[in-house]
Amino acid sequence: MPTYSYNAPHLIEGVLAGNRRDLARTITLFESRNPDHQGIAAEVMRALSSHAGGALRIGITGVPGVGKSTFIESFGIHLVDRGHRVAVLAVDPSSRLSRGSIMGDKTRMEGLSRRDEAFIRPSPSGGTLGGVAARTREAMVACEAAGYDVILVETVGVGQSETTVKGMVDYFLLLMLAGAGDEIQGIKRGIMELADAVAITKSDGENRQAAERARSSYENALSLFSRERPVPVVTTSALDGEGLESLETILSDFYAEDKASGALGARRKKQQIAWLWELVEEGLMDRFKNAPKMSSLIDDMVSGVEKGEVFAGHAARRLLDRFSG
Ligand code: GDP
Repeated sequence: MPTYSYNAPHLIEGVLAGNRRDLARTITLFESRNPDHQGIAAEVMRALSSHAGGALRIGITGVPGVGKSTFIESFGIHLVDRGHRVAVLAVDPSSRLSRGSIMGDKTRMEGLSRRDEAFIRPSPSGGTLGGVAARTREAMVACEAAGYDVILVETVGVGQSETTVKGMVDYFLLLMLAGAGDEIQGIKRGIMELADAVAITKSDGENRQAAERARSSYENALSLFSRERPVPVVTTSALDGEGLESLETILSDFYAEDKASGALGARRKKQQIAWLWELVEEGLMDRFKNAPKMSSLIDDMVSGVEKGEVFAGHAARRLLDRFSG
């Protein structure tokens, strides 16, 4: 593939003017693993980051089939109709160009993608969760610089990715299905604890009553956790729009309240610091494993531990001594 050449001033100007093509190209630049692109990516990032921070950032999760993409489509359109500019990003570490992803390659969010005020970007593909999340954070900076005032970050409801996404958004919305009687047992407490709000999806037609029952049992379950503020539970339907208005009000009230009290800024600072250390950790690991002076000792220590000949603590110390020596 020929190397695409990027023009930093052009991209910066285009993104700041809200040009979607330039925004998409900038995100592609941030995702590029080509070493020739690193310098220019850093230059664009530096310029854009001073224009970022102006959006309400919402993480959205739920198990496959709960209705995430349908919800984001209708919630996104609802927000756009009320004058917002909405960017949809995703964190799906299973996404690889050759393998397809958990979130699927199906055509998604068609209605929203036709709106000029919306920008939809699939998950960066491949790499570790940390790598995918880092690219998504960078995409978020670009979207905010381009004037999007609501960022929806979708993540699939399996494994670690929720915790990671929680670290980059202001509020976390958990989508749940009205289950057949196992509303409480079926949920992972850990994920429940991350939620700032819960939506029971598909509350329409025959499902309505079950959704309402699920809503009150989740509300009861959540009231047992000690939280700074109660976690609201609403029923939603992507088909008839139920609950979308309430959710918008809930989230924008949280945002206004936390902005005024300073809690929002404090939380974002904490997230930045945590991200800093994550990047340092990742970079250190990378350097550690790829340092020429380390390679044979790493092999020796790993095989020694494997065979039970070397104690893991001893092996780790030897490796660290070699690295810093
Ligand atoms: P995801 O895997 O979480 O992204 O779920 P999808 O958005 O793909 O939805 C899974 C299925 O649920 C699809 O067949 C949707 O048509 C259906 N669905 C999603 N939202 C609703 C809703 O509000 N009401 C009803 N009745 N069905 C829905």
